Amino acid sequence: MSNEDYYRLLGVKREASADEIKKAYRKLARKYHPDVNPGDKQAEERFKRISEAYDVLSDPKKRGVYDAYGTYSDNFQPGAAPRDSGFDFAGFDFSNFGNSGFSDIFSQLFHGETSAPRPQKGEDLEYQISIGFDEALKGLQTRITYTRKDQCPACSGKGLSSSGKERPCPSCQGSGKVAQAHGRMRFTSTCPQCGGTGQVGKQCTQCNGEGRLRKTENLEIKIPAGVQTGSRIRFAGKGDAGILGGPPGDLYIVSTVSPHPFFERVGDNIYCKVPITVTEAALGAKIEVPTVDGKAMLKIPPGTQSGQKFRLRGKGAPSLRATTRGDQFVEVKIVVPRVADERSKEILRELARLNPGNPRNEALHF
Ligand SMILES: [Zn+2]
Ligand SMILES: [Zn+2]
Repeated sequence: MSNEDYYRLLGVKREASADEIKKAYRKLARKYHPDVNPGDKQAEERFKRISEAYDVLSDPKKRGVYDAYGTYSDNFQPGAAPRDSGFDFAGFDFSNFGNSGFSDIFSQLFHGETSAPRPQKGEDLEYQISIGFDEALKGLQTRITYTRKDQCPACSGKGLSSSGKERPCPSCQGSGKVAQAHGRMRFTSTCPQCGGTGQVGKQCTQCNGEGRLRKTENLEIKIPAGVQTGSRIRFAGKGDAGILGGPPGDLYIVSTVSPHPFFERVGDNIYCKVPITVTEAALGAKIEVPTVDGKAMLKIPPGTQSGQKFRLRGKGAPSLRATTRGDQFVEVKIVVPRVADERSKEILRELARLNPGNPRNEALHF
């Protein structure tokens, strides 16, 4: 080990904080990293030295030894403990970066703790269902067939089997190293999933190591009254099985409600247009109108105009959110008779003489 001044090498004061040391090292490492300076022996040498300095100064115990003795070596350490994470740069081979303890530190420096595969929640699934207008109002019970990923029974979802064939690590494709990029720097480090072995055990031949298998599922579902096009009804836990023991996803039934010949639904209200005669509009009448429950009577007051809307309370659609139902709105449309006979025309002219008002005067502010 050299007696180089590690502090000067990193360009920090002797009393520099751990953070300052780390920052200084990162800056220098970016500059001298062999991946940034391919074939530059001087940069490589410099890089080894600053890395060595950082290895010592970033470890409070080693730094203490260095500060006290002006040098540090794993072998020199007073009351030396056995080496754990080796930092021997003699014969350090950058082409074999992946297996060095150094690159792990380097990788952690930029990426923090690396993580092994963890249990994951299964995917949520969506199933489209077509529902008739009336079915949507009343609700329905039906059976659907869909495919979901279920836990593989052969390996109990672990993806491993003693009889299977050796499986290359999915993270590194069996190389034991993973490439990482940080800004303009690229470097490789030991694959955290397999610890550099490139293997993750023998994979289950049934599920090819996924731990899950596609399965056709038959499910009895109950669609509540009141669904609309786009309504998503959740069936908890009926989605894909989780990974490595994670919880299953959910199944969402998404409805498409077919249109009705004369009812139109907007929210929980139902709209329809009903034609009335001039006489019914002028004199008032009680007329029969369709509702989703069958026929109902609607009172048309005298002097009703075309386009006027009447409300039938509680005759709308059931609500998915509330216990009350929406309303029905009936828009009346006055149908003018096509008069051909002289008698009818005379009656209308007589009507005009008795009612000489000009409706445009008021409407258009003439
Ligand atoms: Zn399996
Ligand atoms: Zn791996």
